[in-house]
Amino acid sequence: MRFELPDEFQAVVFCHCATCKKLSGGVGTANGRVRTETIRLLAGDDLVRTYQPDEGTAKTFCSVCGSNLFGGGWPDSEFTSVRLSAIETPFDQRPDAHLYVRSVAPWETLPDDGLERFEVGRT
Ligand SMILES: [Zn+2]
Repeated sequence: MRFELPDEFQAVVFCHCATCKKLSGGVGTANGRVRTETIRLLAGDDLVRTYQPDEGTAKTFCSVCGSNLFGGGWPDSEFTSVRLSAIETPFDQRPDAHLYVRSVAPWETLPDDGLERFEVGRT
């Protein structure tokens, strides 16, 4: 699956919520926020599946390799959280916050990186 994004993210964050842990198989996800309409799928869009959890927004992944692609309710939402791990071209923006730190797991250690921390989402 290949896609094209705008030049800049509106925000770049780490999410430590319970759903992101399950999706990532680790401590959570790293996301760049863009307007949904600015994402252009270039190839492999028939491989993409979207999962709607009981709580929270829809998550989109590749049905072949399982890679986590989008969160935040793509394709119907106004904004989409693009998983940074799905982006193959270099970019300069870096995460500036940890979200959902209330869901940090007992086996997880938040890095001492000076980034702002939020109990839930950023308000
Ligand atoms: Zn999350």
